Amino acid sequence: MEDRRRSTPRTDSVLAEPSVREAVLRLGPGIVKQTVVAVLDRCRAGELTPADVVPLVLASLPEGASSLRRVVNATGVVVHTNLGRAPLSDAAVDAMTVAAGATDVELDLATGRRDKRGRGTLAALAAAVPDAGDVHVVNNGAAALALVTRVLAAGRNVVVARGEMVEIGDGFRIPELVESMGATLREVGTTNRVRLADYEDAVDHDTGFVLKVHPSNFVVSGFTSTVSIAEVATLPVPVVADIGSGLLAPHPRLPDEPSAATSLRSGAALVTASGDKLLGGPQCGLLLGEASLVASLRRHPFARALRVDKLTLAALEATLTGPTPPVPAALAGDHEDLMRRARQICVELGGAVPAEAVPSSAAVGGGGAPGVVLPSAAVALPSELAEPLRAGQPAVVGHVERGRLLLDLIAVPAGADAAVVEAVRRAAKTTQG
Ligand SMILES: *Cc1c(COP(=O)(O)O)cnc(C)c1O
Repeated sequence: MEDRRRSTPRTDSVLAEPSVREAVLRLGPGIVKQTVVAVLDRCRAGELTPADVVPLVLASLPEGASSLRRVVNATGVVVHTNLGRAPLSDAAVDAMTVAAGATDVELDLATGRRDKRGRGTLAALAAAVPDAGDVHVVNNGAAALALVTRVLAAGRNVVVARGEMVEIGDGFRIPELVESMGATLREVGTTNRVRLADYEDAVDHDTGFVLKVHPSNFVVSGFTSTVSIAEVATLPVPVVADIGSGLLAPHPRLPDEPSAATSLRSGAALVTASGDKLLGGPQCGLLLGEASLVASLRRHPFARALRVDKLTLAALEATLTGPTPPVPAALAGDHEDLMRRARQICVELGGAVPAEAVPSSAAVGGGGAPGVVLPSAAVALPSELAEPLRAGQPAVVGHVERGRLLLDLIAVPAGADAAVVEAVRRAAKTTQG
């Protein structure tokens, strides 16, 4: 015991090692010192030899100075809320890196004068949805709806169908958001049915707008009826469509998912949506619609509290103008191709662990399209690997089904297959060891 204590290196001497000093420059002193102390405790306990200390410190350090870790999404849920929804395209990441420094977000470099903030991003969004008279971007979908309610309906009423009183997740309820902005909800219809006459009876001179909410995370079937945007648009008040998913145009694989273009063409005065669901961009809220309404939203003092930062503007523009981002790419994926990748991963594992390529059913997830099944492929592994895979660097998150761990490939970029193989090999070693 005494011997181990005496032979254990001192914290200062480990921190003075060149490779550890380099890590301090990259990550800051706090996290490195904490790691050194934890590793030295294990050395003192006799779990490691002094020679193991520096290599283990370096291996235990996180990739970056944030506690957020890189995760391979093998859950089979394309837009996974707990994994940060849409992963960004490389083009969006590059754009954010450029914008992270000093950037011309509000400056015209040709004249040296002040310019409209985020003009390139807004122009790209407007070009992507020609049916919109004007566009605006805020922090998220909820912020978009909050701004619309504050500006068009504070102190007035908002008419909404009972079947569209949606809870999105984590206790967030659209009707509560609307009320929190000072509007009164006027509910019409029943859970399963609503008619145009219900809306007609409810709308009065004090109605700010009729709200149409896309039920983005559930389906109601059976004896049901809803009223289309086109029908409510015949009423003498604006229709605001919260489409949630952020599809700008209809998607062939998601026929029931509303898009901004179709909603506007049907007569919605304004559309609100998220930027980090099916669009595949950064977290933000999109507002598209009649130019005069969008102008009044943009000019309202509350808009400043919901303003997006330069990083979001950069990533959103690159999402709109750059190569196809991961989420739409996954939706367009071919399951034969996914099956080939699953088989290849099994081959490369080379018997290190029992693995089988299997067909699987994936879902769009928090992004919308409830009930849509996406044919996919997975690598089936022993379920004991779930925990070590989650603990790895990068973490690999799958899901356990009927006693097996499935690593579904639909949301795994093809370029990450080698990392998955490596991660599974490492995880298998820890369970065997
Ligand atoms: C996701 C969603 C929202 C909330 O959007 P956030 O970007 O999460 O704030 C609002 N309405 C609908 C219909 C949604 O699906």
